Amino acid sequence: MTTDMLIAGGRVFRSLAGGFAEAVLLRDGRVAAIGTLQDVQDAASPGVKRIDLGGRVAIPAFNEAHMHLLSYGRGLRQVNLRPDDGVHTLDTLLSRIAAAAKRTKPGDWVLGRGYDHVVLDAGRHPTAEELQQAALDHPVYIVRTCCHMGVASTAALRLAGIGHNTPVPEGGAIESRGGRLTGLLQERAQGLIKEHVPVPSETSMVEDIEAAGRDLAARGFATASDMNVGMTGGFAEIGAYRRALEEGRLMQRMWQVLAGNPEGIADEAWESGLRPDTTDDMLAWGGVKTFADGSAGGLTAAFFDPYEASQGGGTGIFCFSDAEQHAMLAKYHAQGWQLDIHAIGDAAIEQVLAGMEAADTQAMPVLGRRHRIEHCGFLNAGQRRRMKARGIIPVPQPVFLYEFGDVYLKVLGRTRSEARYPMRTWFDEGHNPSASSDSPVCTVDPFVNIYTMMTRKTVRGTVIGADQCLTAAEAVHCYTWAGAYTQFAENRRGTLEVGQFADLTVLSCDIFDAAPEDVLTTQADLTLRGGTILFDRHGEAAAAAAAQ
Ligand SMILES: [Zn+2]
Repeated sequence: MTTDMLIAGGRVFRSLAGGFAEAVLLRDGRVAAIGTLQDVQDAASPGVKRIDLGGRVAIPAFNEAHMHLLSYGRGLRQVNLRPDDGVHTLDTLLSRIAAAAKRTKPGDWVLGRGYDHVVLDAGRHPTAEELQQAALDHPVYIVRTCCHMGVASTAALRLAGIGHNTPVPEGGAIESRGGRLTGLLQERAQGLIKEHVPVPSETSMVEDIEAAGRDLAARGFATASDMNVGMTGGFAEIGAYRRALEEGRLMQRMWQVLAGNPEGIADEAWESGLRPDTTDDMLAWGGVKTFADGSAGGLTAAFFDPYEASQGGGTGIFCFSDAEQHAMLAKYHAQGWQLDIHAIGDAAIEQVLAGMEAADTQAMPVLGRRHRIEHCGFLNAGQRRRMKARGIIPVPQPVFLYEFGDVYLKVLGRTRSEARYPMRTWFDEGHNPSASSDSPVCTVDPFVNIYTMMTRKTVRGTVIGADQCLTAAEAVHCYTWAGAYTQFAENRRGTLEVGQFADLTVLSCDIFDAAPEDVLTTQADLTLRGGTILFDRHGEAAAAAAAQ
């Protein structure tokens, strides 16, 4: 059931190009009128429900262009080891694992997520033995905030059969020091552990999808994405999403991107008959993702020039050879999928760009397909030109700068860090960069992301690349219209114009007229998707309905 509403009493942000309106009328799930209060009132039927903004602002609902909805929901069940949840010391980390072990049946896995060894007091990853001591009767696996590496306890290593003679999977690393396994597994070596973690049931995945969706609704999102469908629960994830939709437990409109093979499910999905469908406004199967490299903070993003000497140099890890990567890109491009390829370092971006260029044929041109480079952290002017020429979209996470910027300075130096995520340059060159969090990698809070786009400040207040700041309106544009653009949906959502979906969020503060620091404490008060109330912090929409 959708709700017809007249929203006024504060500014309504139509779009970057359209500026602000005084009021908006929503009817039958769409924007029915927008403009001056007088015009909108004239268009409204008598007895329409009214929301008084009281100086707040209404915007098109946020669009999470790159996140992992199911893993985010799954992560809500795992041990939270994130620094912003108070884990700054190795002791705290280990005591949280120990406490979780006490609550867990002996023999069952204890899984943790989100630690950052760089900000831990010890300045290093925990070891297999330390995790073992914290949970003697359980296999433990904890994943670093970037999700590109993790540490397994001694019992977990044993259970997965990982020893000194285990062949290191290509595109991965198993760390040992002084002849001992440390437990640290990087990139594709993580698969050795993941194989042994029980696959969640469909029912529990539906619960995760719903829990994540409710959390996102409370932050103003009417559209989200799962950028690696199949990586947690395999092929069954497709069924879990379909069931969530059928049972009315899917909160956001979803843009779904299948995990490419060999680890993923894209080939299985294709054989089962799944085909690209970008037009479904609730559950669109849009693309296929592959990985080219790892993360900069974890020293696994692939660069032309080495990391800082203090970090031991090195140029990162390629997940696949050029030939392997290019063959995958050609295949998924020919099948009609959007390519959504993870590449952070300039050398990895080069591999991906060259592969997309090689897949570009007269019969099947790349231009118009809106292929994406996910993260797209560090690239040069030539690479930007080549992306523009083929309409390849950068999908960055400005919030990486906030959470990891101080680490980038340390491992990559200032010049490279300042050029990271060149939002202003992209904007001015017409690249349509969207904004997203890669959650559960970073906080899914959109206001931290907008603050970062406006200030280029890290969590410690370090400014990195001040010339790349955006205005609040530009930042919101990246989080709304630009996200919809990557999903071929900019003519249906992402702006508040007549005929667009009634996907709208009321913010607690008019961020277009606020100091950046006030953006950080802003909240979503009301979230609508197609006029349906997803979240109503103060019960105002419910009250308006009752007053009718
Ligand atoms: Zn991601």
